[in-house]
Amino acid sequence: MADIKSVSDHLHNSVASDPLQRQKYEPWKSRAPYIFTSDEDFGPVKWQAMCHCSRVQYQIRRESPLAAKYCHCRACQVMHAAPFQWCAIYHKTDVRFTRGVDTLMFYSSHEKSREYQVPTKVYCANCNSPIMDEGRNMCLIFPELIDLGETEEEYLIRRKVFEIDCHIFYSRRIVEVADGKPKWSGIDGRSELLDDNGCKV
Ligand SMILES: [Zn+2]
Ligand SMILES: [Zn+2]
Repeated sequence: MADIKSVSDHLHNSVASDPLQRQKYEPWKSRAPYIFTSDEDFGPVKWQAMCHCSRVQYQIRRESPLAAKYCHCRACQVMHAAPFQWCAIYHKTDVRFTRGVDTLMFYSSHEKSREYQVPTKVYCANCNSPIMDEGRNMCLIFPELIDLGETEEEYLIRRKVFEIDCHIFYSRRIVEVADGKPKWSGIDGRSELLDDNGCKV
């Protein structure tokens, strides 16, 4: 008995002390995109994505996103340490994690908390790469993680799939982007349209 107890204590302690080792049941794991979906149910894979350390990997079965945007809001600038965030929106059921669900880390910017609650940012707990924003109904994936191929030619063709529809929160921009795309001062459809220089149109 003593041996079994010490083994169990050891396992408990190692799981508790290393977030990368946690295997406990959590309800979000039984929902898309985290739940394991069989190849038969998922169908043909259109895109593969992985974090920097490759511990976290996911796939997408739908070719084109529902929408793609650059977000210039302050939260995106700070949390991505970048002038703006590039996101592509998919239904959660079109995305499945194939590796690293137990290596995921969450951050709710609304609550400033690492407790899982949607909407949440999803990170790799090992390399800290941002993986996606999980909304209440959609996944906002970051196309930078998608495998766009090896050659420049493949890159040029494949990146077009994720070409943005518009910019949002352009009034908070750090850089101007002269791409002629629609630019909303705040949320798309619910704020003013601006030109490339940020002037009202
Ligand atoms: Zn990683
Ligand atoms: Zn944003």
